[in-house]
Amino acid sequence: MSHSLVTMSYIVAAILFILSLSGLSNQESSRKGNYYGMLGMAIAIIATTFNVSSSAFAILLAAIAIGGSIGARAALKVAMTQMPELVAIMHSLVGMAAVLVGFANFMDSSINVSGVEKTIHELEIYIGILIGAITFSGSVIAFGKLSEKISGKPMLLPARHWLNLGLLIAVIVLGGLFLQQTESGAGSLPLLDHGGALPLLLMTLLALAFGVHMVMAIGGADMPVVVSMLNSYSGWAAAATGFMLSNDLLIVTGALVGSSGAILSYIMCHAMNRNFISVIAGGFGTASGADAAVVEGEVQPINADEAASLLMEAKNIMIIPGYGMAVAQAQHTVYEITKLLREKGKKVGFGIHPVAGRMPGHMNVLLAEAKVPYDIVYEMDEINDDFPHVDVSIVIGANDIVNPSALDDPNSPIAGMPVLECWKGETTIVLKRSMASGYAGVGNPLFVLENTRMLFGDANTTMQAVLKALQA
Ligand code: NDP
Repeated sequence: MSHSLVTMSYIVAAILFILSLSGLSNQESSRKGNYYGMLGMAIAIIATTFNVSSSAFAILLAAIAIGGSIGARAALKVAMTQMPELVAIMHSLVGMAAVLVGFANFMDSSINVSGVEKTIHELEIYIGILIGAITFSGSVIAFGKLSEKISGKPMLLPARHWLNLGLLIAVIVLGGLFLQQTESGAGSLPLLDHGGALPLLLMTLLALAFGVHMVMAIGGADMPVVVSMLNSYSGWAAAATGFMLSNDLLIVTGALVGSSGAILSYIMCHAMNRNFISVIAGGFGTASGADAAVVEGEVQPINADEAASLLMEAKNIMIIPGYGMAVAQAQHTVYEITKLLREKGKKVGFGIHPVAGRMPGHMNVLLAEAKVPYDIVYEMDEINDDFPHVDVSIVIGANDIVNPSALDDPNSPIAGMPVLECWKGETTIVLKRSMASGYAGVGNPLFVLENTRMLFGDANTTMQAVLKALQA
């Protein structure tokens, strides 16, 4: 493939990626956004594949076949509830790629640059490996926390801020040593015989440790910000790889992912009333007392028939989905009920909390899958003042996002986080299997309020029973 054709393909791919991002910013155009992204990526891969030397071509094809089939298998097998973990592990792969490309570049004796160019090249390697290693280990820990293999509770080491500061200073000092010790054209030596290898290796280990420490210190309720922050890091890691490989498309794509992830982190922080620095500093979601998960009061359980009669009497209904709806895969039954209630002349809306579920936009994806019309799906800010006019709110497998203690109890681990204030409506029906707490591990006084009714059981099974009762 000629050089200009490759450049042209890269420009087209970059434009498609930008169109993809703009498509994804809106639910109605998100499907189109995905298609643009897929097309852009196909063009990018084809152009890159035909741009390599014939000796590398076979290796590249083999790598694409192996990587592509592992990716396709994982994507086909993954359950909707495991999607956040899949995203986290994908981010870790981007980080690992940046580290490996960095070391390959460092050892590549065919790159012969001098003067300022040499310094820039070495900085690219150093920074690329730094961001890549943090992204890799941070994402692995995020994967562990999201899949509940690692506790969601923040791990707070004593003097952890000093530890972080110490790590930062060490990384800068090692960077200085690295730049001093490297020499170009060292030949094909083993890694440790290259000048600068030791500081580079030490920095990699520190960056890996920093990634682990950073995400371990973040409490359950702050994980949404971490997920989007690691998304941003993976973009910067890809951009750094692009600089090392002198690949313009990778630089542009990495920068797009990096900046959109950073904007998303900001939006998440804003939605949770949190400040970015304090999220990174960690500790949110620490239980203030041993009994943070226990609430006292009388629970009022109901059955599906009683829930159906409450719905029949109501005029204005708000559905609040949470992580449990994803677990139960109840979205299709929920939509069947919605259709039926709307046919009976009732006003039905969906209230979506920005951090409901386990990844940004989790609930919107589920509702879109069930074909719920977008115009009845509202963001928290749009409807939070309307609850006093709501007759029945149905909370489906949500917990932290409807926890009144976030507003009433300054000692609550999630104090200050905005929540959907469903208790201000006439009646709230909560669907869940038990009295267990949610992701942040905090007890929820909503369950024992006078106007709350608990409908225990798997959300899909109970919703099907409610549907049957409504149809009867
Ligand atoms: P929560 O995790 O607070 O609560 C989910 C509830 O669903 C649980 O209390 C559980 O109760 C119930 N549940 C689970 N399975 C079922 C089932 N099959 N049928 C019925 N109920 C079920 O979820 P929310 O959506 O309310 O809040 C999201 C939380 O996750 C927040 O703390 C947020 O910070 C965090 N988070 C969000 C991310 C994001 O980007 N959106 C990323 C990472 C974390 P029971 O076991 O009794 O059934």
